Amino acid sequence: MATKWVYTFEEGNAGMKNLLGGKGANLSEMTSIGLPVPPGFIITTEACLAYLAEGEQFPEGLWEQTVENMKKLGEKMGRQFGDSNDPLLMSVRSGARISMPGMMDTILNLGLNDQAVEALAERSGDPRFAWDAYRRLIQMFGGVVMNVRGERFEELITRIRNEQGVKTDPEVSAEGWKQVVGWFKNVVREETGQEFPQDAWEQLRLAVEAVFKSWNGKRAIDYRNATGIPHDLGTAVNVQTMVFGNVGWDSGSGVAFTRNPSTGEDDFFGEYLFNAQGEDVVSGARTPIEVHHLKEDLPEAWDTLQEIAETLEKHYREMQDIEFTIENKKLWMLQTRSGKRTAAAAVKIAVDMVNEGLISKEEAVERIEPGQIDQLLHPHFDIEAMEAANVLAKGLNASPGAAVGRVYFTADTAEEMAKAGQSVILVRPETTPDDVHGMLAARGILTQHGGATSHAAVVARQLGKPCVAGCEDIHIDMNRLQFMVDGTVVKEGDVISLDGASGRVYLGELPTVAPTFDEQPDLQQILEWADEIRRLGVWANADDPEQATRARNYGATGIGLCRTEHMFMGERTEKFQRGILAKQAGNEEEAQRVLDEELLPLQREDFYGIFKAMDGLPVIIRLLDPPLHEFLPPREELIAEVAAARARGEDVSEAEKLLSTVEDMAEFNPMLGLRGCRLGIMMPELNTMQVRAIFEAACDAALEGVDVHPEVMIPLTSHINELKEIQPLLESVAQQVMAEKNIEIKYKFGTMIEIPRAALTAGEIASMAEFFSFGTNDLTQMAFGISRDDAERKFLLSYVEKGILPVNPFQTIDPIGVGRLMEVAVQEGRAVRSDLEIGICGEHGGDPASIEFCHQLGLNYVSCSPYRVPVARLAAAHAALNEKGMPERPD
Ligand code: ADP
Ligand code: MG
Ligand code: MG
Repeated sequence: MATKWVYTFEEGNAGMKNLLGGKGANLSEMTSIGLPVPPGFIITTEACLAYLAEGEQFPEGLWEQTVENMKKLGEKMGRQFGDSNDPLLMSVRSGARISMPGMMDTILNLGLNDQAVEALAERSGDPRFAWDAYRRLIQMFGGVVMNVRGERFEELITRIRNEQGVKTDPEVSAEGWKQVVGWFKNVVREETGQEFPQDAWEQLRLAVEAVFKSWNGKRAIDYRNATGIPHDLGTAVNVQTMVFGNVGWDSGSGVAFTRNPSTGEDDFFGEYLFNAQGEDVVSGARTPIEVHHLKEDLPEAWDTLQEIAETLEKHYREMQDIEFTIENKKLWMLQTRSGKRTAAAAVKIAVDMVNEGLISKEEAVERIEPGQIDQLLHPHFDIEAMEAANVLAKGLNASPGAAVGRVYFTADTAEEMAKAGQSVILVRPETTPDDVHGMLAARGILTQHGGATSHAAVVARQLGKPCVAGCEDIHIDMNRLQFMVDGTVVKEGDVISLDGASGRVYLGELPTVAPTFDEQPDLQQILEWADEIRRLGVWANADDPEQATRARNYGATGIGLCRTEHMFMGERTEKFQRGILAKQAGNEEEAQRVLDEELLPLQREDFYGIFKAMDGLPVIIRLLDPPLHEFLPPREELIAEVAAARARGEDVSEAEKLLSTVEDMAEFNPMLGLRGCRLGIMMPELNTMQVRAIFEAACDAALEGVDVHPEVMIPLTSHINELKEIQPLLESVAQQVMAEKNIEIKYKFGTMIEIPRAALTAGEIASMAEFFSFGTNDLTQMAFGISRDDAERKFLLSYVEKGILPVNPFQTIDPIGVGRLMEVAVQEGRAVRSDLEIGICGEHGGDPASIEFCHQLGLNYVSCSPYRVPVARLAAAHAALNEKGMPERPD
């Protein structure tokens, strides 16, 4: 049987988007549910692909089927296409599977010519409308099919308005438009050397071909490359009977959303223009009115519109973005699709729709992207301040977020100024891999050149930094270290504000607002539903009671990592240093005194606060992990100090002692040196002090009725014998403290799995460890043999750009390599200890793709920064839903 290239709206449905394109499938769906849609038919995406494959030839049968459908349509409508005495007019509209820029613009009023326009004038009794329709056809057809520059037409419209002394198009008279038609035909001839085609069938054939060809236009190809849309989808062509919004003041055309797309409020939202056709509403030539005015002006059409909005929402179970036209008070639907919305609107609409019984909780959760939660919880510019401020320049919204800082023009100065404590915006003509250290140091990035896939854009998105790229409004002068926009000069050190979400740049500092979690009940509702769905626990990394409280407030049900080294920083460093120096000097007694009398009480206090904040929930505390010299001043600094003091003739004996200690402790490769449990084994008094502090705090809290669950984590284990050496000693301290305090509490001892050897011998290790926590940062470094800090500065991002690595493995767990180690550890660990508690505490714990991987591995929890907890709760629910296989989302 011959291929079916053409489907009437009655023959299609919303499920046929691949074949009929999004627009066509939804026109069909609206037709089948009885909504008023002007009749028409769709030429399939397959026809487009066949046309392109056959060297721009219609495939066999296509034209015949088109003509046949057109004739049938004519019978239905009571007038025929191509009949110049009583013309049937059509629109030709492109429509791919996924709506995208670069596809051919719609052509309206197809079928008009010099004779038909007279007939239309007579039939409608409205010559102004007829000539307006004809000039629009020539304008649109001339532009999109014959490639005449739009300005040529625009100029002439301005001219007729001036000649007639009117401000807007609908005021131009019939005579005026008639004159314009003559001018337009001349323009087409001048610009193309061809006549505007008078034959309706010729118009149709050329328009269909133009839609097909637009699939392979440069703009379309670039867009598909940038967004990852496949190139082999093709576009459909919708051929639809015209309805007219330009036949007087009881007609018009509009666009609307069934709910407010920026707040999510259940209130019809949109714009409307009286006596207008097609894209007048969005073209900006006339200012449209708020759609609610229709309620008074055309109440019947308004009521129908409201009913239709409700029908559509019930049918699609999703907020819709619609296009409609009113012809002599009668409403016609021309398009529907699911509406784009802000993060806040997405959350509100999802919650409301569950409450309205339209969708399930699972669907609501599934409809929110983890990135949207980020948007809701991260600082953004105050909307009112943004509206009130003057936009300095506008570029591409390459990476979202708000950034305020001082302008610097080289990566080196940006880095230097950031180190000096400034907030920096790196401004570059464009960036290259040599600029990455500056990008890392900057709050935001602004480039003059380059698109959404430029180096700056890709890297900024990867780093999660706000970026405005390709901002051609600005002119950078690298010699003077300044940039110019119109008359304004912005110099090095001046403050600007970047809004990566809109691509806008402002002079000076715009206020930011950090939305609080407590004020967002809809968001909390979505996350509670996510909690019902997910299997994976979400814990947080928190080092003090305040962070623990925040984490809990965000929904964390445990602390997966409390880093005790942070407790030796700040003003406590000095105490700790004294202890280290005493120890190195062989003064064991003083070293022990510092530990017992100075540091232990401080640690105990911290732990006590955390246990109270996490009443009823597990708290994993990691024993000291970094090498000791991290707590001492850097060697170079000390050398300089000693030299300076000596030059001043001061006593340098103390400083020299410190220097020699630092030199003694220096390591070639500290990351792989004396740290983690190695340190604990070599200096057990450090770990015993910490364990004592933990258990004293836990017992004290428990005596007050707090439900404590301490879990002591031994870092950097590579061999079971390390645990055998240290763990019994530490457990005896725990027992001793409990005996002293005369209370028994439940506790666990476990280990980090962050060295490949530990993962590979997990069975042995689980014989002692009661829990595992994957330190995926170190595990990734050691599995790849890559030092993260060096790699991200020097080559890792280029690796990603070149496609050597699919993603930065420090952002998303490498499932095949690092993931394989994790898998082995889970299997062998659980084989030995079936109730082994396993989680991850690296930065990956907040990354949705890594969270999905952890779900699949069957981990008990992921632990991430408190701020990421809401994202992780949602991502964990998505992982569970993906496993179940959710129905496809309406679009
Ligand atoms: P886009 O994909 O750019 O939205 P459309 O194909 O939706 O383009 O067409 C743009 C506008 O043209 C529509 O919103 C509608 O106002 C008008 N239009 C399209 N087809 C018709 C038609 N058959 N009758 C009246 N107006 C139409
Ligand atoms: Mg368009
Ligand atoms: Mg449209």
